[in-house]
Amino acid sequence: MGKLYDKLLSDYRIKEGLNACINCGTCTAICPAAEFYKYDPRQIVDIVQSQDDAEIEKLLKSETIWYCGECMSCVTRCPRKNAAGLVIMALRSLSIDMGFFMESEKGRQMYLLCKDLNHNVLNYGYCVYPRNFKYDIHPEAGKVWEWEEKNLDAVFERLGANLDGNGRGAMRKIPQEDLDQLKKIYDITGATQRLEKVKQAGVKKAEELGLTLEEYEQKLYTESSPTHLNH
Ligand code: SF4
Ligand code: SF4
Repeated sequence: MGKLYDKLLSDYRIKEGLNACINCGTCTAICPAAEFYKYDPRQIVDIVQSQDDAEIEKLLKSETIWYCGECMSCVTRCPRKNAAGLVIMALRSLSIDMGFFMESEKGRQMYLLCKDLNHNVLNYGYCVYPRNFKYDIHPEAGKVWEWEEKNLDAVFERLGANLDGNGRGAMRKIPQEDLDQLKKIYDITGATQRLEKVKQAGVKKAEELGLTLEEYEQKLYTESSPTHLNH
């Protein structure tokens, strides 16, 4: 066993997600991410199972581990009850811990995901908080969202949601004591430390490129190599 494999083994997601893989490819066949990206969860699981540190290091530096949508469809069909999605989560964490994530475009984009999604989770209790989802930054959402952004309260009211309201309902305001609990979970599980690592790596990269943090973020938002896609 190698050093990286040992580190992976200490992650409960590997213990729970990887029994003996028979390389059947069912996970890849059912995987929605494999439909769009050059992505093969069967191959990823096979590399981890090989315990070959050199290959695992390549994986940790690659684009491929960032393509998974963590939908866990693979878990439902694996004949050996593996969870490719969990194996990939453990690889992502190790890639960040080792600093390898900065070697891939999708890995570097973690800076934005960590900043935006976790800001929303910790401050509002939702991954996507509609008042922070701006058409200017996400033109891919389409013109309808540009209109919705200007009419947000009316749209959510019409949908029967309770946006930022007290009490029950979709998109209700999450009480501060619950948000405090979430922060504690982040602290205890090491997520806070990992997020800081991603942030510091992004700040350093921006400095290396001679960009302000705002310019670097814009670059991450807008630049995407066409090589990721399957077609
Ligand atoms: S479905 Fe399960 S056994 Fe088959 S390749 Fe994927 S992880 Fe391995
Ligand atoms: S969890 Fe990841 S690997 Fe599994 S089916 Fe979903 S996108 Fe594919």
